[in-house]
Amino acid sequence: MFVGSFLSDDSLKRKEGFDTLSYQFSIDGHCDICDEAVVFNSKHDWFRDHLLCSNCGSIPRERALMRVIKQVYPNFKELSVHESSPGTRGASEILKRDCADYSSSQYFPDLASGEMYEKYNQQCQNLEAMSLADQTFDLFVTQDVMEHLYNPAAAFREIARVLKPGGAHIFTVPIVNKWKATELRAILGEDGEIIHLMEPQYHGNPVTDEGILMTYNWGYDIAAFIDKAAGTNTVIMQIDDIEHGIRADLIEVLVSKKQ
Ligand SMILES: [Zn+2]
Repeated sequence: MFVGSFLSDDSLKRKEGFDTLSYQFSIDGHCDICDEAVVFNSKHDWFRDHLLCSNCGSIPRERALMRVIKQVYPNFKELSVHESSPGTRGASEILKRDCADYSSSQYFPDLASGEMYEKYNQQCQNLEAMSLADQTFDLFVTQDVMEHLYNPAAAFREIARVLKPGGAHIFTVPIVNKWKATELRAILGEDGEIIHLMEPQYHGNPVTDEGILMTYNWGYDIAAFIDKAAGTNTVIMQIDDIEHGIRADLIEVLVSKKQ
C-alpha cells in the first residue's frame, strides 16, 4: 500500500507552514521492534521523527538500532546489556523486556555516578566517569546521547572500559555533518559555565522538561574519533529498508567493538 508521494528533498523538512494535513505516507511492512506485521504511517515528510509503527509507535532510528543489534548479536537476549538514557518505547522497551541481564542508567547532574534518583527509580551514571566495574557488559546501548556530551572522548573510553573484550557499544547519533568534519557547538569554561560556539540547539530530554544542549555536530569522522579515544573498532551502518520502516535521514547506527 502506498498513498501519497515520498518527498526525498530534506530541504522541505522544516519549511515554514508545511501542510501536515495534506501529507500522508503509508506502507505495509514488518517491524523489527515489535516483531509484528504493521503499517508504517507518516503525516510529515521528515520521516526521522514521523514514520511511526502502527503497533508500537517506534521511529526509524529505533528500528535501525534493533536491526543492527539483532544482526551483530543474534543471541542478544542472553547477553549482559546496559543502556544509558533509555527511552520509554522502541528498542529500549524490547531490550528491557527480553534481555536476561539488562540494566540502565540516566545522567542526573546533581547526583554522583552510582547514586539512585528515587523519583525515577533510576541509577545515575555520568558517561564520562562511570562507577560501573571494568569488563561488565557484552552490549552497551545509547540512543541519540553522544551529541550532547562535553567530553565524548572520555565517554567512549569509559564505555569501552565497562565492555567485555569482544563486546560492543551499539548506538545511534545524528551525524548531521556527514562528510564534513565534526564541529564543536559548545564547551565548558573553567568555572563550568557553558560557552556557546554556535547558536544553541536543544533536543528533548526523557527525564526533564528542559531541553538538552547539542554540543557536537558529528561528521562521519566520528568513527576515527572513537577508535582513537577508546581503542575500539568502529563501523557506521546505514540501512534503507522501507518495508521494515527503516528509511530516514540521520539514522546511522554505529557499532564500536572492543578488541
Ligand atoms: Zn512496531
